Amino acid sequence: METENKSFQEVNEGYTMLEAINEAKRCLHCKVPQCKKGCPISHDIPDWIHELSMGNLGNAMNIINNKSNLPSVCGRVCPHEKQCEGHCVLNKRGEGIRVGKLERFIADFDGNMSLIRENLLPKTRGKIAVIGSGPAGLTIAGDMARQGFNVEIFEMEPEPGGVLMFGIPEYRLPKEIVRREIKKIEELGVVFHCNTTVGKGDLTIEKLFEMGYDAIFMGTGTGVPKKLHIPGSNLKGVRQAIWFLRRVSLYNEGNLSREEVVVHEGNRVFVIGCGNTAMDAARTAVRIGASHVEVVYHRTVNEMSALRSEYEDAVAEGVKFSWQSSIVEIHDDNGTLNEVVIESNGERRTEKADFVIMAVGSAPASRIVSTTTGIDVDERGYVLTREKPYGMTTRKGVFAGGDVVNRPSTVVLAMRDAKRVAEGMAQYVDAVKLIEAVNEKGEMKKPEV
Ligand SMILES: Cc1cc2nc3c(=O)[nH]c(=O)nc-3n(C[C@H](O)[C@H](O)[C@H](O)COP(=O)(O)OP(=O)(O)OC[C@H]3O[C@@H](n4cnc5c(N)ncnc54)[C@H](O)[C@@H]3O)c2cc1C
Repeated sequence: METENKSFQEVNEGYTMLEAINEAKRCLHCKVPQCKKGCPISHDIPDWIHELSMGNLGNAMNIINNKSNLPSVCGRVCPHEKQCEGHCVLNKRGEGIRVGKLERFIADFDGNMSLIRENLLPKTRGKIAVIGSGPAGLTIAGDMARQGFNVEIFEMEPEPGGVLMFGIPEYRLPKEIVRREIKKIEELGVVFHCNTTVGKGDLTIEKLFEMGYDAIFMGTGTGVPKKLHIPGSNLKGVRQAIWFLRRVSLYNEGNLSREEVVVHEGNRVFVIGCGNTAMDAARTAVRIGASHVEVVYHRTVNEMSALRSEYEDAVAEGVKFSWQSSIVEIHDDNGTLNEVVIESNGERRTEKADFVIMAVGSAPASRIVSTTTGIDVDERGYVLTREKPYGMTTRKGVFAGGDVVNRPSTVVLAMRDAKRVAEGMAQYVDAVKLIEAVNEKGEMKKPEV
Protein backbone atom coordinates (compact mmCIF):
# COMPACT_ATOMS: atom_id res chain seq x y z
CA MET A 1 0.00 0.00 0.00
CA GLU A 2 1.33 3.48 -0.78
CA THR A 3 1.91 5.68 2.22
CA GLU A 4 -0.38 8.65 2.53
CA ASN A 5 2.34 10.94 3.79
CA LYS A 6 5.07 11.39 1.19
CA SER A 7 7.67 12.34 3.82
CA PHE A 8 7.55 8.72 4.97
CA GLN A 9 8.81 7.44 1.64
CA GLU A 10 11.95 5.31 1.87
CA VAL A 11 15.04 7.48 2.39
CA ASN A 12 17.73 5.27 0.87
CA GLU A 13 17.51 4.62 -2.84
CA GLY A 14 18.30 1.08 -4.00
CA TYR A 15 20.72 0.21 -6.81
CA THR A 16 19.77 0.02 -10.46
CA MET A 17 20.76 -3.21 -12.26
CA LEU A 18 23.81 -1.51 -13.77
CA GLU A 19 24.96 -0.09 -10.44
CA ALA A 20 24.44 -3.42 -8.65
CA ILE A 21 26.43 -5.42 -11.21
CA ASN A 22 29.23 -2.85 -11.27
CA GLU A 23 29.41 -2.90 -7.48
CA ALA A 24 29.39 -6.73 -7.44
CA LYS A 25 32.28 -6.76 -9.93
CA ARG A 26 34.47 -4.90 -7.41
CA CYS A 27 34.29 -7.84 -4.96
CA LEU A 28 37.62 -9.68 -4.65
CA HIS A 29 35.92 -12.98 -3.78
CA CYS A 30 38.47 -13.48 -0.97
CA LYS A 31 39.51 -17.02 -0.04
CA VAL A 32 38.87 -16.30 3.62
CA PRO A 33 36.01 -13.81 3.35
CA GLN A 34 36.03 -11.34 6.23
CA CYS A 35 32.54 -10.13 5.30
CA LYS A 36 31.17 -13.61 6.02
CA LYS A 37 32.97 -13.59 9.38
CA GLY A 38 31.33 -10.27 10.17
CA CYS A 39 27.84 -11.55 9.37
CA PRO A 40 26.03 -13.04 12.40
CA ILE A 41 24.34 -15.65 10.18
CA SER A 42 27.53 -16.36 8.17
CA HIS A 43 25.98 -15.46 4.85
CA ASP A 44 27.94 -16.85 1.87
CA ILE A 45 28.39 -13.26 0.73
CA PRO A 46 31.19 -13.59 -1.86
CA ASP A 47 29.34 -16.49 -3.53
CA TRP A 48 26.11 -14.63 -4.12
CA ILE A 49 27.95 -11.45 -5.06
CA HIS A 50 29.90 -13.48 -7.63
CA GLU A 51 26.65 -14.84 -9.13
CA LEU A 52 25.27 -11.31 -9.27
CA SER A 53 28.42 -10.03 -10.98
CA MET A 54 27.67 -12.50 -13.81
CA GLY A 55 24.00 -11.53 -13.93
CA ASN A 56 22.79 -14.81 -12.39
CA LEU A 57 20.17 -13.40 -10.07
CA GLY A 58 18.31 -16.69 -9.53
CA ASN A 59 21.52 -18.43 -8.41
CA ALA A 60 22.37 -15.52 -6.16
CA MET A 61 18.93 -15.70 -4.56
CA ASN A 62 19.17 -19.45 -4.04
CA ILE A 63 22.42 -18.97 -2.12
CA ILE A 64 20.82 -16.24 0.01
CA ASN A 65 17.77 -18.42 0.71
CA ASN A 66 20.02 -21.07 2.26
CA LYS A 67 20.80 -18.75 5.13
CA SER A 68 18.15 -16.06 5.40
CA ASN A 69 14.37 -15.74 5.38
CA LEU A 70 14.46 -11.94 5.50
CA PRO A 71 17.05 -10.62 3.00
CA SER A 72 15.06 -7.57 1.86
CA VAL A 73 14.74 -6.61 5.52
CA CYS A 74 18.37 -7.28 6.46
CA GLY A 75 19.55 -5.47 3.33
CA ARG A 76 17.86 -2.36 4.73
CA VAL A 77 18.11 -2.39 8.52
CA CYS A 78 21.15 -4.47 9.53
CA PRO A 79 24.02 -2.50 11.06
CA HIS A 80 26.19 -3.30 8.00
CA GLU A 81 28.87 -0.84 8.97
CA LYS A 82 29.59 -2.96 12.06
CA GLN A 83 29.13 -6.32 10.32
CA CYS A 84 29.75 -7.45 6.72
CA GLU A 85 30.66 -4.05 5.26
CA GLY A 86 32.80 -3.11 8.26
CA HIS A 87 34.87 -6.29 7.74
CA CYS A 88 35.39 -5.95 3.95
CA VAL A 89 39.13 -5.87 3.12
CA LEU A 90 38.51 -3.17 0.50
CA ASN A 91 37.87 -0.71 3.34
CA LYS A 92 41.65 -0.52 3.73
CA ARG A 93 42.12 0.68 0.15
CA GLY A 94 39.18 2.97 -0.06
CA GLU A 95 35.59 1.88 -0.22
CA GLY A 96 34.31 -1.49 1.02
CA ILE A 97 31.65 -3.40 -0.91
CA ARG A 98 28.09 -2.21 -0.16
CA VAL A 99 26.93 -5.69 0.81
CA GLY A 100 23.62 -4.53 2.33
CA LYS A 101 22.55 -2.69 -0.82
CA LEU A 102 23.51 -5.69 -2.97
CA GLU A 103 21.52 -8.11 -0.79
CA ARG A 104 18.57 -5.75 -0.95
CA PHE A 105 18.88 -5.47 -4.74
CA ILE A 106 18.85 -9.26 -5.26
CA ALA A 107 16.01 -9.88 -2.78
CA ASP A 108 13.88 -7.03 -4.15
CA PHE A 109 14.45 -8.25 -7.71
CA ASP A 110 13.37 -11.75 -6.69
CA GLY A 111 10.37 -10.32 -4.82
CA ASN A 112 9.28 -8.30 -7.87
CA MET A 113 9.91 -11.04 -10.41
CA SER A 114 9.06 -14.14 -8.27
CA LEU A 115 12.19 -15.84 -9.60
CA ILE A 116 12.48 -18.68 -7.12
CA ARG A 117 10.15 -21.60 -6.74
CA GLU A 118 11.55 -23.81 -4.01
CA ASN A 119 11.07 -27.56 -3.99
CA LEU A 120 9.26 -28.20 -0.74
CA LEU A 121 9.63 -31.32 1.36
CA PRO A 122 6.41 -33.07 2.43
CA LYS A 123 5.44 -31.91 5.93
CA THR A 124 5.86 -35.19 7.74
CA ARG A 125 8.39 -34.51 10.51
CA GLY A 126 6.09 -32.98 13.13
CA LYS A 127 3.89 -30.06 14.10
CA ILE A 128 5.35 -26.83 15.47
CA ALA A 129 3.55 -23.86 17.08
CA VAL A 130 5.36 -20.54 16.90
CA ILE A 131 4.23 -17.71 19.19
CA GLY A 132 5.14 -14.31 17.77
CA SER A 133 5.98 -13.35 14.21
CA GLY A 134 8.93 -10.99 14.57
CA PRO A 135 12.29 -11.85 13.00
CA ALA A 136 12.79 -14.74 15.48
CA GLY A 137 9.37 -16.34 14.85
CA LEU A 138 9.57 -15.85 11.07
CA THR A 139 13.05 -17.39 10.96
CA ILE A 140 12.03 -20.46 12.96
CA ALA A 141 8.94 -20.82 10.79
CA GLY A 142 10.85 -20.57 7.50
CA ASP A 143 13.69 -22.86 8.56
CA MET A 144 11.41 -25.54 10.02
CA ALA A 145 8.97 -25.49 7.11
CA ARG A 146 11.90 -25.98 4.71
CA GLN A 147 12.97 -29.01 6.78
CA GLY A 148 9.58 -30.73 6.46
CA PHE A 149 7.76 -29.54 9.60
CA ASN A 150 4.19 -28.31 9.72
CA VAL A 151 4.38 -24.80 11.19
CA GLU A 152 1.62 -22.54 12.50
CA ILE A 153 2.26 -19.04 13.84
CA PHE A 154 0.15 -17.39 16.56
CA GLU A 155 0.43 -13.61 16.51
CA MET A 156 -1.48 -11.24 18.77
CA GLU A 157 -1.34 -8.29 16.37
CA PRO A 158 -3.67 -7.98 13.36
CA GLU A 159 -0.68 -8.46 11.04
CA PRO A 160 2.55 -10.48 11.30
CA GLY A 161 6.04 -8.94 11.42
CA GLY A 162 6.56 -7.83 15.03
CA VAL A 163 8.84 -4.80 15.29
CA LEU A 164 9.39 -4.93 11.50
CA MET A 165 5.73 -4.09 10.99
CA PHE A 166 4.88 -1.90 13.99
CA GLY A 167 8.21 -0.45 15.17
CA ILE A 168 10.72 0.34 12.41
CA PRO A 169 9.28 3.29 10.47
CA GLU A 170 8.15 3.20 6.88
CA TYR A 171 10.94 5.50 5.61
CA ARG A 172 13.56 2.90 6.66
CA LEU A 173 11.59 -0.29 6.05
CA PRO A 174 8.48 -0.03 3.87
CA LYS A 175 5.62 -2.25 5.08
CA GLU A 176 5.22 -3.52 1.51
CA ILE A 177 8.71 -5.08 1.79
CA VAL A 178 7.87 -6.80 5.10
CA ARG A 179 4.62 -8.12 3.65
CA ARG A 180 6.46 -9.52 0.64
CA GLU A 181 8.96 -11.39 2.83
CA ILE A 182 6.11 -12.79 4.92
CA LYS A 183 4.28 -13.92 1.78
CA LYS A 184 7.37 -15.91 0.79
CA ILE A 185 7.33 -17.63 4.19
CA GLU A 186 3.61 -18.34 3.74
CA GLU A 187 4.43 -19.92 0.38
CA LEU A 188 6.60 -22.44 2.26
CA GLY A 189 3.35 -23.71 3.80
CA VAL A 190 3.47 -21.76 7.08
CA VAL A 191 -0.01 -20.92 8.45
CA PHE A 192 -0.56 -17.58 10.25
CA HIS A 193 -3.20 -17.00 12.95
CA CYS A 194 -3.30 -13.25 13.65
CA ASN A 195 -5.26 -11.46 16.39
CA THR A 196 -4.46 -14.53 18.51
CA THR A 197 -2.78 -13.98 21.86
CA VAL A 198 -1.28 -16.94 23.66
CA GLY A 199 -1.67 -16.59 27.44
CA LYS A 200 -5.04 -14.88 27.16
CA GLY A 201 -8.42 -16.62 27.56
CA ASP A 202 -8.12 -20.35 27.13
CA LEU A 203 -5.26 -20.31 24.59
CA THR A 204 -2.35 -21.35 26.80
CA ILE A 205 0.80 -23.43 26.34
CA GLU A 206 -1.14 -26.43 27.75
CA LYS A 207 -3.89 -25.88 25.20
CA LEU A 208 -1.36 -25.79 22.35
CA PHE A 209 0.08 -29.16 23.46
CA GLU A 210 -3.51 -30.53 23.68
CA MET A 211 -3.99 -29.31 20.09
CA GLY A 212 -1.25 -31.72 19.05
CA TYR A 213 1.87 -29.57 18.59
CA ASP A 214 5.09 -31.51 19.15
CA ALA A 215 7.04 -28.41 20.19
CA ILE A 216 6.32 -24.75 20.81
CA PHE A 217 8.54 -21.74 20.14
CA MET A 218 8.22 -18.45 22.05
CA GLY A 219 9.55 -15.53 20.01
CA THR A 220 7.55 -12.93 21.86
CA GLY A 221 10.12 -10.13 22.03
CA THR A 222 10.24 -7.34 24.58
CA GLY A 223 6.94 -5.56 24.19
CA VAL A 224 6.76 -3.79 27.57
CA PRO A 225 8.41 -0.36 27.41
CA LYS A 226 10.38 0.85 30.44
CA LYS A 227 9.41 4.06 32.12
CA LEU A 228 11.51 6.74 33.84
CA HIS A 229 9.86 8.03 36.97
CA ILE A 230 10.43 11.77 37.01
CA PRO A 231 8.07 14.44 38.34
CA GLY A 232 5.33 14.87 35.73
CA SER A 233 6.00 11.59 33.90
CA ASN A 234 2.38 10.52 34.42
CA LEU A 235 1.04 13.43 32.37
CA LYS A 236 -0.88 12.57 29.20
CA GLY A 237 1.71 14.26 26.99
CA VAL A 238 4.37 11.76 28.04
CA ARG A 239 4.28 8.81 25.62
CA GLN A 240 6.28 5.71 24.92
CA ALA A 241 8.29 5.70 21.65
CA ILE A 242 6.89 2.32 20.62
CA TRP A 243 3.35 3.55 21.17
CA PHE A 244 4.01 6.69 19.10
CA LEU A 245 5.72 4.80 16.24
CA ARG A 246 2.89 2.31 16.09
CA ARG A 247 0.30 5.09 15.92
CA VAL A 248 2.14 6.86 13.09
CA SER A 249 2.43 3.56 11.28
CA LEU A 250 -1.34 2.97 11.63
CA TYR A 251 -1.98 6.51 10.38
CA ASN A 252 0.27 6.00 7.35
CA GLU A 253 -1.68 2.85 6.52
CA GLY A 254 -4.96 4.78 6.71
CA ASN A 255 -6.11 3.03 9.91
CA LEU A 256 -6.02 6.09 12.20
CA SER A 257 -6.96 9.72 11.66
CA ARG A 258 -4.31 12.46 11.87
CA GLU A 259 -5.90 13.64 15.15
CA GLU A 260 -5.26 10.25 16.74
CA VAL A 261 -1.51 10.43 16.06
CA VAL A 262 -1.40 12.88 19.00
CA VAL A 263 1.78 14.79 18.00
CA HIS A 264 0.60 17.71 15.89
CA GLU A 265 2.00 20.12 13.33
CA GLY A 266 4.21 22.70 15.06
CA ASN A 267 4.57 20.78 18.35
CA ARG A 268 7.75 20.84 20.41
CA VAL A 269 8.83 17.28 21.16
CA PHE A 270 11.54 16.02 23.54
CA VAL A 271 12.82 12.46 23.27
CA ILE A 272 14.52 10.74 26.23
CA GLY A 273 17.12 8.09 25.30
CA CYS A 274 19.60 7.68 22.45
CA GLY A 275 19.20 4.21 20.96
CA ASN A 276 17.77 3.37 17.55
CA THR A 277 14.23 3.54 18.92
CA ALA A 278 14.89 7.12 20.07
CA MET A 279 16.30 8.00 16.60
CA ASP A 280 13.21 6.52 14.94
CA ALA A 281 10.87 8.41 17.28
CA ALA A 282 12.73 11.70 16.74
CA ARG A 283 12.90 11.38 12.95
CA THR A 284 9.26 10.32 12.85
CA ALA A 285 8.25 13.35 14.94
CA VAL A 286 10.04 15.57 12.37
CA ARG A 287 8.16 13.87 9.53
CA ILE A 288 4.81 14.24 11.23
CA GLY A 289 5.38 18.01 11.44
CA ALA A 290 6.88 18.81 14.87
CA SER A 291 8.62 22.20 14.78
CA HIS A 292 11.30 21.34 17.34
CA VAL A 293 12.59 17.84 18.14
CA GLU A 294 15.28 17.44 20.76
CA VAL A 295 16.91 14.24 21.98
CA VAL A 296 17.97 14.48 25.61
CA TYR A 297 20.58 11.93 26.67
CA HIS A 298 22.44 11.62 29.97
CA ARG A 299 25.66 10.34 28.39
CA THR A 300 27.95 11.51 25.55
CA VAL A 301 27.65 11.09 21.78
CA ASN A 302 30.25 8.30 21.90
CA GLU A 303 28.16 6.32 24.37
CA MET A 304 24.85 6.34 22.48
CA SER A 305 23.64 2.92 21.33
CA ALA A 306 22.13 4.32 18.10
CA LEU A 307 24.02 3.63 14.91
CA ARG A 308 26.23 6.51 13.86
CA SER A 309 24.48 6.64 10.47
CA GLU A 310 21.06 6.91 12.17
CA TYR A 311 22.32 9.73 14.34
CA GLU A 312 23.83 11.57 11.35
CA ASP A 313 20.60 11.24 9.41
CA ALA A 314 18.68 12.61 12.40
CA VAL A 315 21.03 15.62 12.61
CA ALA A 316 20.65 16.23 8.87
CA GLU A 317 16.88 16.18 9.28
CA GLY A 318 17.01 18.87 11.96
CA VAL A 319 16.85 16.87 15.22
CA LYS A 320 18.71 18.64 18.06
CA PHE A 321 20.77 16.72 20.63
CA SER A 322 21.48 17.60 24.26
CA TRP A 323 24.33 15.43 25.59
CA GLN A 324 25.02 14.72 29.24
CA SER A 325 21.59 16.11 29.96
CA SER A 326 18.45 14.85 31.66
CA ILE A 327 14.85 15.94 31.79
CA VAL A 328 14.36 16.34 35.54
CA GLU A 329 10.84 17.77 35.68
CA ILE A 330 7.83 17.91 33.37
CA HIS A 331 5.31 20.67 34.03
CA ASP A 332 1.69 21.13 33.01
CA ASP A 333 -0.86 23.85 32.69
CA ASN A 334 -4.21 22.48 33.87
CA GLY A 335 -3.24 18.93 33.02
CA THR A 336 -1.69 19.77 29.61
CA LEU A 337 2.08 19.26 29.35
CA ASN A 338 3.67 22.65 28.66
CA GLU A 339 7.30 22.64 29.87
CA VAL A 340 10.29 20.47 30.53
CA VAL A 341 13.19 21.27 32.84
CA ILE A 342 16.52 20.03 31.44
CA GLU A 343 19.61 19.70 33.60
CA SER A 344 23.06 19.78 31.95
CA ASN A 345 26.30 19.89 33.94
CA GLY A 346 24.48 21.06 37.06
CA GLU A 347 22.64 23.88 35.24
CA ARG A 348 18.91 23.91 34.61
CA ARG A 349 16.94 25.40 31.74
CA THR A 350 13.19 25.39 31.14
CA GLU A 351 11.88 24.76 27.61
CA LYS A 352 8.37 25.01 26.19
CA ALA A 353 7.19 21.49 25.31
CA ASP A 354 4.12 19.70 24.00
CA PHE A 355 5.30 16.08 24.16
CA VAL A 356 7.91 13.97 25.86
CA ILE A 357 8.66 10.64 24.22
CA MET A 358 10.40 7.96 26.26
CA ALA A 359 12.75 5.54 24.52
CA VAL A 360 14.63 4.03 27.43
CA GLY A 361 14.35 0.32 26.68
CA SER A 362 11.83 -2.47 26.96
CA ALA A 363 11.35 -5.82 28.70
CA PRO A 364 9.39 -9.05 28.06
CA ALA A 365 5.72 -9.39 28.99
CA SER A 366 4.84 -12.10 31.49
CA ARG A 367 1.60 -13.16 29.78
CA ILE A 368 2.79 -16.62 28.76
CA VAL A 369 5.01 -17.60 31.70
CA SER A 370 2.36 -16.48 34.20
CA THR A 371 -0.36 -18.60 32.62
CA THR A 372 1.58 -21.85 32.52
CA THR A 373 3.93 -23.76 34.78
CA GLY A 374 7.56 -24.69 34.41
CA ILE A 375 8.97 -21.87 32.26
CA ASP A 376 11.65 -20.17 34.37
CA VAL A 377 12.73 -16.59 33.76
CA ASP A 378 15.54 -14.48 35.23
CA GLU A 379 15.00 -11.57 37.63
CA ARG A 380 14.13 -9.27 34.70
CA GLY A 381 11.66 -11.61 33.07
CA TYR A 382 13.92 -12.98 30.28
CA VAL A 383 13.24 -16.64 29.51
CA LEU A 384 15.97 -19.08 30.53
CA THR A 385 17.02 -21.58 27.88
CA ARG A 386 19.46 -24.46 27.65
CA GLU A 387 22.34 -25.31 25.34
CA LYS A 388 21.09 -28.82 24.52
CA PRO A 389 18.74 -29.08 22.78
CA TYR A 390 19.58 -25.51 21.96
CA GLY A 391 16.89 -23.04 23.01
CA MET A 392 14.70 -25.35 25.11
CA THR A 393 13.27 -23.64 28.20
CA THR A 394 12.94 -25.32 31.58
CA ARG A 395 9.66 -26.74 30.26
CA LYS A 396 10.08 -29.78 28.03
CA GLY A 397 9.04 -29.12 24.44
CA VAL A 398 8.83 -25.32 24.88
CA PHE A 399 11.64 -23.39 23.20
CA ALA A 400 12.39 -19.66 23.15
CA GLY A 401 14.66 -17.32 21.21
CA GLY A 402 15.24 -13.78 19.99
CA ASP A 403 14.85 -10.73 22.23
CA VAL A 404 12.66 -12.53 24.83
CA VAL A 405 15.79 -14.53 25.75
CA ASN A 406 18.72 -12.33 24.79
CA ARG A 407 17.43 -8.82 25.63
CA PRO A 408 16.62 -6.19 22.99
CA SER A 409 19.19 -6.48 20.22
CA THR A 410 18.94 -6.52 16.43
CA VAL A 411 16.98 -8.23 13.68
CA VAL A 412 19.90 -10.36 12.53
CA LEU A 413 20.88 -11.42 16.05
CA ALA A 414 17.28 -12.52 16.71
CA MET A 415 17.49 -14.45 13.42
CA ARG A 416 20.82 -16.05 14.33
CA ASP A 417 19.45 -17.24 17.65
CA ALA A 418 16.27 -18.55 16.02
CA LYS A 419 18.28 -20.50 13.45
CA ARG A 420 20.11 -22.32 16.22
CA VAL A 421 16.83 -22.94 18.06
CA ALA A 422 15.36 -24.40 14.85
CA GLU A 423 18.16 -26.99 14.89
CA GLY A 424 17.50 -27.75 18.57
CA MET A 425 13.75 -28.11 18.00
CA ALA A 426 14.23 -30.39 15.01
CA GLN A 427 16.57 -32.64 17.04
CA TYR A 428 14.08 -32.68 19.93
CA VAL A 429 11.03 -33.54 17.84
CA ASP A 430 12.93 -36.21 15.87
CA ALA A 431 14.21 -37.75 19.13
CA VAL A 432 10.76 -37.79 20.78
CA LYS A 433 9.23 -39.39 17.70
CA LEU A 434 12.01 -41.97 17.53
CA ILE A 435 11.50 -42.98 21.18
CA GLU A 436 7.73 -43.18 20.62
CA ALA A 437 8.35 -45.46 17.64
CA VAL A 438 10.73 -47.65 19.70
CA ASN A 439 8.12 -47.98 22.46
CA GLU A 440 5.28 -48.85 20.09
CA LYS A 441 4.43 -52.54 20.01
CA GLY A 442 4.14 -52.55 16.25
CA GLU A 443 4.44 -55.53 13.95
CA MET A 444 8.10 -56.58 13.60
CA LYS A 445 9.81 -56.39 10.22
CA LYS A 446 10.13 -59.86 8.64
CA PRO A 447 13.55 -60.88 7.29
CA GLU A 448 13.82 -60.54 3.53
CA VAL A 449 14.42 -63.89 1.85
C1 LIG B 1 11.74 1.15 16.98
C2 LIG B 1 12.73 0.05 16.78
C3 LIG B 1 13.65 0.16 15.76
C4 LIG B 1 14.58 -0.86 15.55
N1 LIG B 1 15.45 -0.73 14.51
C5 LIG B 1 16.29 -1.76 14.24
C6 LIG B 1 17.16 -1.70 13.11
O1 LIG B 1 17.20 -0.73 12.38
N2 LIG B 1 17.97 -2.77 12.85
C7 LIG B 1 17.95 -3.88 13.64
O2 LIG B 1 18.66 -4.84 13.31
N3 LIG B 1 17.15 -3.96 14.72
C8 LIG B 1 16.32 -2.94 15.04
N4 LIG B 1 15.51 -3.01 16.14
C9 LIG B 1 15.56 -4.21 16.99
C10 LIG B 1 14.82 -5.39 16.35
O3 LIG B 1 13.65 -4.96 15.72
C11 LIG B 1 14.52 -6.46 17.39
O4 LIG B 1 15.74 -6.85 17.97
C12 LIG B 1 13.82 -7.68 16.74
O5 LIG B 1 12.60 -7.28 16.16
C13 LIG B 1 13.56 -8.78 17.77
O6 LIG B 1 12.86 -9.81 17.16
P1 LIG B 1 11.90 -10.81 17.96
O7 LIG B 1 11.29 -11.70 16.94
O8 LIG B 1 12.65 -11.42 19.08
O9 LIG B 1 10.79 -9.90 18.63
P2 LIG B 1 9.69 -8.90 18.02
O10 LIG B 1 10.08 -8.31 16.74
O11 LIG B 1 9.38 -7.98 19.16
O12 LIG B 1 8.44 -9.84 17.77
C14 LIG B 1 7.68 -10.40 18.82
C15 LIG B 1 6.31 -10.75 18.31
O13 LIG B 1 5.62 -11.54 19.27
C16 LIG B 1 4.26 -11.12 19.35
N5 LIG B 1 3.75 -11.55 20.65
C17 LIG B 1 4.21 -11.17 21.88
N6 LIG B 1 3.52 -11.81 22.84
C18 LIG B 1 2.60 -12.61 22.22
C19 LIG B 1 1.61 -13.52 22.68
N7 LIG B 1 1.43 -13.73 23.99
N8 LIG B 1 0.84 -14.16 21.78
C20 LIG B 1 1.02 -13.96 20.44
N9 LIG B 1 1.96 -13.09 19.95
C21 LIG B 1 2.75 -12.44 20.82
C22 LIG B 1 4.37 -9.61 19.17
O14 LIG B 1 3.13 -9.04 18.80
C23 LIG B 1 5.43 -9.52 18.07
O15 LIG B 1 4.84 -9.62 16.80
C24 LIG B 1 14.57 -2.00 16.40
C25 LIG B 1 13.66 -2.09 17.45
C26 LIG B 1 12.76 -1.08 17.65
C27 LIG B 1 11.77 -1.20 18.78
